[in-house]
Order: sequence, then C-alpha cells, then structure tokens
Amino acid sequence: MGKGNSEDFFKKIIAHAKEYGFIFQSSEIYDGLSAAYDYGPFGVELKNNIKDYWWKSMVQYHENIVGLDSAIFMHPSTWKASGHLEAFNDPMIDNKDSKKRYRADELIEDHLDKIEKKIDKEIKKAAKRFGDDFDEDQFRSTHPKVLKYTEKIEAIKNRMNNALENEQLDELKKLIEEENITCPVSGSANWTDVRQFNLMFSTELGSTSENNKIYLRPETAQGIFVNYLNVQKTGRMKLPFGIAQIGKAFRNEIVARQFIFRMREFEQMELQYFVQPGTEMEWLEYWKNERVKWHKALGIDDDFFRLYEHEKLAHYANAAYDIEFDFPFGFKELEGIHSRTDFDLSAHQEHSGKKLQYYDPETQESYVPYVVETSIGLDRMFLAVLTAAYKEEKLQDNSERVVLKIPPILSPYKAAVFPLTKKDGLPEKGREVMDKLKFNFMCQYEEKDTIGKRYRRHDAIGTPYCITVDHQTLEDNTVTIRERDSMEQERVEIDRLQEIIQKRLSM
Ligand code: ATP
Repeated sequence: MGKGNSEDFFKKIIAHAKEYGFIFQSSEIYDGLSAAYDYGPFGVELKNNIKDYWWKSMVQYHENIVGLDSAIFMHPSTWKASGHLEAFNDPMIDNKDSKKRYRADELIEDHLDKIEKKIDKEIKKAAKRFGDDFDEDQFRSTHPKVLKYTEKIEAIKNRMNNALENEQLDELKKLIEEENITCPVSGSANWTDVRQFNLMFSTELGSTSENNKIYLRPETAQGIFVNYLNVQKTGRMKLPFGIAQIGKAFRNEIVARQFIFRMREFEQMELQYFVQPGTEMEWLEYWKNERVKWHKALGIDDDFFRLYEHEKLAHYANAAYDIEFDFPFGFKELEGIHSRTDFDLSAHQEHSGKKLQYYDPETQESYVPYVVETSIGLDRMFLAVLTAAYKEEKLQDNSERVVLKIPPILSPYKAAVFPLTKKDGLPEKGREVMDKLKFNFMCQYEEKDTIGKRYRRHDAIGTPYCITVDHQTLEDNTVTIRERDSMEQERVEIDRLQEIIQKRLSM
C-alpha cells in the first residue's frame, strides 16, 4: 500500500504510532484528553530530528537568521495589539439533534468537497469511455454537468468568503440552510445560529488582583515581534534578517479531530523575516520557493505537496500561500507563508508607545520593517512524515512487513546492532560496535529474538541500518549491514560503518 486517502489507512497510522511508541493519547489512563497527545520514546526522537532539520536549515545555514526562545505567557496587551482578542475567532454552529459542534466554514468546505467528488466521478467515467483520446481539460471546460458543478462550487466559495470577511454570520447560516447541508451524525439540518468563538485559552497570573487575566499564546510569532528591537540591536542585524523560533502554541479549536493534525496544544516552527517595505513580495516568493525546497530535499514524493494561494487573507496579511500536504484525509495545510506587512510591529509600537523601527544606514531613514513569515506546525510535519513513510510490503517469501521509510536524517534510530547469537563472544563484539557508533548516532543494541524479528521491529520504527555481528566478525572484523528500504545486505569492515551511515544523513 502506498499513500491512500482512506480512513482505513489513517487508522493504521494511528495504531502503528501507538504500538511502536511514537504517539500516545494524553492522560490515556483517564480515558484521554481530547486533542492533546504525548510523544513516546521514538516519537520524541523523530520530533527532535524534525526540529533539528528545520533549525539547521534556517539558523545555521543562513548567516542573517538568528534564534529566539520567548515565553509562552506574554503581557495581555500583546493580544490586543496583535488583533487576536478581537479577531482570532472561528464561526461555530451546533446541530440541535446530535448536539455536535462544527466550524461553519468547515461544514461548507466539506460540502464543496462532495461536489468536487461528483466532478471526479464524471471525469473517471469519461476517461474510461474515451481511453487514450481523453482530454481532461477539454472535458472540464465543455461537459454541461461538470460545468454546472464547477460554477456551483465557485458561487458557494465566493459567498462563504464574503460572509467570513465581513463577519456576516447570518449569511453563513443561510448558506448552510440553502445548500441543505446536514449534520454527518444526526443527518438533520436542525442548526443553531452561527456564533463567533475566540480560540485563545485564558488563565490567571498570580493570586491577588482582579485584573490578572492572561492568555496562552496562540502563535509563537508575537514573542518574536515584541523582541524585534532587542534582537536587532544585540545581534547587530541589518535588514533583511530573520528571527526563528520553535515552541508551543495553544488554540481552543472548536472541533479537534484528525489526530495530531488539529490539536489544542501544539508546536510551531516559525520564521519572521524582516525586510524593507516594498520588497516583501520578492521575499514572499523567495521564502515560498525555499520552503518547498526544504520539504522536497527530504525525498518525499512530489505528489504529496500542493501550493495554494489564499483568497481570504488573515487580518494582518497582504498575500499568503499554504504548502498543502496529501494527508490520509486529503490535501490540507501543512505550512503557511504569509506577507504580514508592518501590521504587527506597527500595532505593538502604537500600543506600547515604544518605537519599533529600523534605522537604515544607507538611506539614513527610520522605518517599520515589513515581515514575511513562514510557519509550520511541527506536529503536522510529524504526521506528514508518517503518512509518506508508512508502507505495507509483501516480501519474496510471501511474508509481509510494515516499514516506515522515514527520511534517514529524521529516523529515530540511525542504526541497530545485533549479535547473531547470545554466546561465543558475539554480544561483547556487538557492544564494541555499539560503543564505536553511539557517540555519533542514536543506536540501539538488541540481542533478543531471531534476526528476522529484530529486522521487522526496526523496519517498523524506520531504522535505516541494521548491523549484524556474526562468527566471521570475530575472525576478520567485518559485519553485515542491511539497508531498510532495499533490504540488501553487504559485508563491510567495522571501521567503515561510521562513514556509510554518515553519508546517508548528510544534508
Ligand atoms: P488551519 O486553517 O488548519 O486552522 P491556520 O491557518 O489557522 O490552520 P496558521 O495560523 O497559519 O494555521 O498556523 C501556522 C501553522 O501552525 C499551520 O500551518 C499548522 O501547521 C500549524 N497549526 C495551526 N493550528 C494547529 C493545530 N490546531 N494543531 C496543530 N498544528 C496547527
């Protein structure tokens, strides 16, 4: 099985992630907490490796990008200035029969997907009928039924986007009713009105005064903006330059299903890139291309990615792209690349009364820089990696294996060392090999079970190399090294192991 847009495939990934210690439901012994997850021994390694790959390609490889680790708690005025108190809302609607809650825009989007599927069906039918002569573009632009569906999709989209932009909640409800959209659970169209719901979690700071409400940050970006001058001055940064940050963010999502795709506590990897006003579109283009390259450098199939240009823009943006990924439930946003203008810095300047400007030594002018942001969810990236990596394969001897073909640079373990048997001095030799490797790579030593079973276990967690120590090793200091994807084995000298593993990990 390759990539599959099926519920079944998704269930398998979730079950595999649990069985092999990647991801557990939070507080599972108490029946779990919805939309919160814990990363197990292999999950934490994969997660750290994704962070490391991102951090290196952002901070280490760009001389003009520096890092930051700002606090999750921030002064409440931050969220007033950033617009999150006013505008970080999602429209929600409840079905009175099932008592289930939905995001109104997502209900409408699911409805659009259904119409899209009808178009696909027509196309498939026609492709079968016409065979090699089939011209999909022509069919799309002439077939009456397909044209009608396409127009319908456009009309609904326009109406929805307009309503969202102008906060016409009545209009959203009308659209849901007129399209006869029903609740997937009860099947009824017995809806409440649409209401706005703010996604920020609040809590209280200290224990004394009344006015001590603070928020858990819904994005890491604001920590970067309020530190703009601190970093620019202490780092002696000149425009254009970037500040990168990895950290937790919290959103009280209305509906949080789909495993680690939509969580209420999650992690973001964000870059805010400060540029001269007027150059932001060039930089948006630059970062869009860089980020696509970053994903493709991992060797994940091109088909998994799609670029989407935003029609509806967030309150701070003047242009935006999403890098979408073909998750088991279809193409969805993996990363956002936004031109945020000077919205945030100007707003913080106004609310704090502190100047947040750049003095340009060349033009001898001071101005508020513009910002291009790249923002990727670490957990979504984790799910993308699992989705692309999970394979069920039938082997030559008719047995089956589940293998995670994780890009080796991200694999939890880089190598596993197996003595063929537990006697004859093989474990001691195995330990020697292990000691040679473990200071440079995450490795595991295993002597339990047959070699075949040990291979299967490491296939299932994505270890790119399994090294077996046998009797010949004691004579000539060679071992077999087995590569995960091809399953090919080679006899090599122990002294070459380091170089072989390193070669596949280089960026
Ligand atoms: P969506 O439309 O899916 O709600 P968004 O447009 O609100 O996402 P951004 O505000 O652009 O997302 O956040 C940047 C990135 O953070 C997203 O591309 C995504 O990878 C990640 N992200 C956002 N919300 C969540 C969440 N609830 N759980 C996990 N990751 C998230």
